[in-house]
Amino acid sequence: MDKIKVRFAPSPTGYMHIGNTRTAVFNWLLAKKLGGEFMLRIDDTDVLRSKPEYEAAIRDILNWLGFKWDFEARQTARMGRYDEVVAKLKAQGRVYPCYETAEELEVMRKRLMTKGLPPIYDRGALKLTAEQIAAYEKEGRRPHYRFKLLPGIIEWDDMVRGHCRYDASNLADPVIIREDGSYLYHLPSVIDDSDFGITHIIRGEDHVTNTAAQIQMFEAIGGRVPQFAHLPLLTGKEGKLSKRLGSLGVRELRAEGVEGMAICSFLAKLGTSEAIEPYYDLETLAQSLDLSKLGRSQPKFDEEELKIFNTKYVHTLPYQMVKDRIDADEEFWNAVRGNLKVVEDIKEWEKICRQSIVPQIEDKELTDLAAALLPPEPWNSETFNLWMNEVKAQSSKKGKELFHPIRKALTAQENGPELKILLPLIGREKALKRLQGQEA
Ligand code: GLU
Repeated sequence: MDKIKVRFAPSPTGYMHIGNTRTAVFNWLLAKKLGGEFMLRIDDTDVLRSKPEYEAAIRDILNWLGFKWDFEARQTARMGRYDEVVAKLKAQGRVYPCYETAEELEVMRKRLMTKGLPPIYDRGALKLTAEQIAAYEKEGRRPHYRFKLLPGIIEWDDMVRGHCRYDASNLADPVIIREDGSYLYHLPSVIDDSDFGITHIIRGEDHVTNTAAQIQMFEAIGGRVPQFAHLPLLTGKEGKLSKRLGSLGVRELRAEGVEGMAICSFLAKLGTSEAIEPYYDLETLAQSLDLSKLGRSQPKFDEEELKIFNTKYVHTLPYQMVKDRIDADEEFWNAVRGNLKVVEDIKEWEKICRQSIVPQIEDKELTDLAAALLPPEPWNSETFNLWMNEVKAQSSKKGKELFHPIRKALTAQENGPELKILLPLIGREKALKRLQGQEA
């Protein structure tokens, strides 16, 4: 088999959200798994809505997720190529000018709908005489262009949806060039996919009908039709597609401490027959990818579930993966990770161990006794238990009555990592002062 080539083709008209991130995740992982290439294509033909800051933000998120691209292209830089292909298609009669205004098309659409017919364009433009066209042009009307579909059955084997079949006569000829001369996404996408040798198109199932028309475009330009995989769209937890979900920004999730690998692990398994489990590197996650495990129904995405999953991920996150981002050694990380919601929370524990806090004295008698019995350094992970045995013997307190006041004095927290691990990290000087009720 040839080397596979996939592409992620965002339109820089907004930030990365959970929906298009999922598309990127599947594309990238498939390329990785099969040793193929991943292309970044910037679909910026909508020049009014495309913005450099969105593009920069998209690149930033892809980098953060760890997705490197092997090559890239920008659609606005390829206009000459599209014009060249369109000229050929015009000459072959596959692309034709239309002069209806948006209002006229709307009237036609409504008329068909009231008759209970599908709103398919009637190809009125193909019946225009040269005089009529000249009259329209004189009136100042500018044409838009449609791609002419050939009659027949369009079929493909979708890697997710299985066998798909469309009768071209049930589809409207898609508009490919707007009245102002700008390209809609359909044809440039096909030209790019063909020119760059894309072998697999993985995208949301909202593109399924586009695929039917695009297959004919591939054929019309003499390109090889790629394999398709249409991912079921995500729904909100209430069961319907929510606006909020569509726009749930990955930047915001990142700012809230959701880890890139947690997002990738979660999205790669959501809606599959496999359990959502933490993966710590993209390579292993890629090897586990199996598009055939993806169900046909629309998976529910719940932001809270992702955050809970992220916490579970943080609790088991290996030191190697965070060491460059935190100021802690492996022992410290392993001691506290189980108490963190997000990695950033480690700062709180660093403060407790290394900076000063105001202790909370709950049982002064007990903490005074504990201070008096605090052993001399050097300390290790056994120190705490030896010390507590002494305090227990002399105070005849045990369990929560014993440990809770000690914890509150040493950390000013209700809960946290095991004290036997924290104690040596806090050190004798601070521990003594805190037990005596002093800020330290
Ligand atoms: N720019 C298109 C989109 O974001 C790409 C669709 C495709 O993958 O073909 O919807």
